Parts: sequence; structure tokens; C-alpha cells
Amino acid sequence: MAISSRLVKPETQELVHLEVLRTERLSAHWMRVTLGGGEIERFRPMGFDQWFRLFLPLGGDEGLDRLPAKANKLFGYLRYLRIPDGVRPVMRNYSVRAFRPATADRGAELDVDFVLHGSAADGTAGPASRWAETCVAGESVVLIDEGLAFNPERGTERVVLVADETGLPAVAGICASLPAHATGLAIIEVPDAADALEFARPAGIEVRWIVREHEVQPGVPALESLTDLSDAELPAGPFHAYIVGEQALPTGARRHLVNERGVDKDRVSFCGYWRVGAASPTPKAQQHATEAAA
Ligand SMILES: Cc1cc2nc3c(=O)[nH]c(=O)nc-3n(C[C@H](O)[C@H](O)[C@H](O)COP(=O)(O)OP(=O)(O)OC[C@H]3O[C@@H](n4cnc5c(N)ncnc54)[C@H](O)[C@@H]3O)c2cc1C
Repeated sequence: MAISSRLVKPETQELVHLEVLRTERLSAHWMRVTLGGGEIERFRPMGFDQWFRLFLPLGGDEGLDRLPAKANKLFGYLRYLRIPDGVRPVMRNYSVRAFRPATADRGAELDVDFVLHGSAADGTAGPASRWAETCVAGESVVLIDEGLAFNPERGTERVVLVADETGLPAVAGICASLPAHATGLAIIEVPDAADALEFARPAGIEVRWIVREHEVQPGVPALESLTDLSDAELPAGPFHAYIVGEQALPTGARRHLVNERGVDKDRVSFCGYWRVGAASPTPKAQQHATEAAA
């Protein structure tokens, strides 16, 4: 995460070993991977935009077994980097799209919705996107809970939520966790109309879907849609804003809300989820497919 506001940390940040239970292709750019089994009972759902570090076994399960505790903190991360290239798991950030506690018939389940960008077939996708497109039931992963970035003042019930497609799972999680009488507006940009996956929300939260034209940079249409809003279209009264997506979107939207609309800085939670043209750190052994296609 390149930029972010204050975070709400989880109770524990242990390594949680899980398995892929199943996958479901939701649309051209969405793959849902349902995780469970393993140590799922150790996962503590917090609702809202809960996110976690996800370690993918692209160098085989040995890499997952060698993960140090606290691989998300400086010293743990340095030890993670000492796992030999070719074995070291790929680490990426993802959100909890849904969590279902265990029932009498089955264990707890955690849905993760992956944006599929580029293509696994021709090697233009990033390693996480590629993995989500091709993973199969029974594969192992490890996660470390990171808690929440959505951090409004206690009692806030008016929200403005702005995201590109990578933030849709987080926005859906926030809407599922807000009280039923919450009100506000969600602006969500997606690459294709079929990627506008509906989600449950309070009746008072309006959703505006923006379909991005192919050649337009991600995040730009959502930012324009926010800056074009008249004051009357924003909630009447103080609201909490939440902006995530391609890095220029949260930066630009926060600047606009604070400088042009007079929103208090403390009422804006924001986070750069990814950057155009900048891959997250990737073990050399996992870079080959992308490089071959470049
Ligand atoms: C807190 C947090 C929560 C997140 N939650 C989710 C989530 O629930 N679902 C989700 O899909 N993503 C989510 N993301 C974003 C995700 O971590 C990034 O998109 C990540 O870079 C994908 O990894 P990769 O290995 O596929 O691509 P990388 O190896 O990181 O990048 C390879 C190339 O693909 C480009 N790229 C990366 N992501 C995208 C994209 N989405 N669209 C187009 N090009 C891209 C990069 O610019 C680079 O050129 C979240 C990020 C954060 C910080």
C-alpha cells in the first residue's frame, strides 16, 4: 500500500493456513476464490473493508511452510525475502468479500474476489491475477490479517465511497457492515458493464456504476464523477469518505474533497491499492511469464 490513512489493527496477526475450496468465474474480469479448511477457525472477521496479506504458493507448498511469523513486518519481511527465489511465495493484498461462519454441515468460508487483469493465457497478468484464474480446489495459501482502513468517527452514518474495480469487494463489505439506516453515495468504476457485481446495501446508499472506456486510465472516470458532483448530490451534513483504487484516484479524490469541498482530513479514509505500470514485488522466478509476453 503506497498511501493510506489510519488503520484499525486486528486482534492477532498470526499466519493462517487455508485451502482453496472452490472458484467461480463471476464475469470477464472477476474470479471468486473461496478459502476455508486448514486454520480457518483462527480467522477473526471484522466486517467493513477488512484486508489481509495473501501468500500464494507459486513456488510450491514448501515456500508456505517456510514463511516466518510477522512476514508483514520489517524483520519478518526480511526473513521472508531470504526464502530462496523459486520457492518464495508471492505476497499480495486482498479484501474479505464475505465471511460465512461454520455451520453444522460445513466449516467457515472466506470469499476473495480477484480482479483478472491482463491474461493468464498470454502471460500479461500479474502473478496474483494469474493464480486466481488458474488455481484449483485443494491448493494451499497463507494469510495475515491486517484489519480495516475504513475508520470513521464513531456513530457516522453518512458515507461517500469511491473505488475502481479493485475496491468493489471493500465497498461491498462496508455496505454490508453499516447500519440499515446509513445513507450516502457509492461511485464504483468497472472495466465492463458485466463487472458491475450487485451487492447488498442499506436502501439509503445510492450506487453509481461507471463503465470505463478501454483506453482510459483506471481511476480517472471515478475521480471525474466525484469532482462533477454538485454539492446537492453529496450527503447533507458531515459524512465520512472512503476512496480506494489505482493510486491517482485516492490521492486526487482526497485532495478534491479536502481542498475544494472543505471536508475535514480526518473524515477521509483512503488507500492506493495498485499503480498503473508498477508490479508489486515479485520473486524473479515468477516474473518470467510477464517478461516473455512483454
Ligand atoms: C488493502 C488492499 C486491498 C485490496 N483488495 C483487493 C481485492 O479484494 N481484489 C482485487 O482484485 N484487488 C485488490 N487489491 C489490489 C491488488 O492487491 C493489486 O491489484 C495487485 O497488484 C494485484 O497483483 P498481481 O500480482 O495480479 O499484479 P502485480 O504483479 O502487482 O502487477 C503486474 C502489472 O499489472 C498491473 N496491475 C495490477 N493490478 C491491476 C489491476 N487491478 N488492473 C489492471 N492492472 C493491474 C500493474 O500495474 C503491473 O503493471 C487490494 C489492494 C490493497 C492495498
